[in-house]
Amino acid sequence: MTRVRIDASRCQGHGRCVLIAPDYFDVDEAGLGRVLIAEVAAADCADLADAERSCPEGAIVLTD
Ligand code: SF4
Repeated sequence: MTRVRIDASRCQGHGRCVLIAPDYFDVDEAGLGRVLIAEVAAADCADLADAERSCPEGAIVLTD
C-alpha cells in the first residue's frame, strides 16, 4: 500500500498538491499543505506521483 505524507519542514504553501490531487491534499489555516488521506488507492498512484514531482519544495513523500 502506497502512503503519502508532507514534510512540514519543507512545505512552503504553494498549493500545487491541492490542484493536482484535491482528494488527498488541503491547505491549513496557515496556508501549508496537509494530507487528507494517507493511504493512496492504486488507481490514484499516478496522480500522487505527479503531485510529488510537482511540489517545488520536494515536500511530498510517497512510500510503499
Ligand atoms: S505543493 Fe508542496 S510546498 Fe506546496 S503546499 Fe503542497 S506540499 Fe506544500
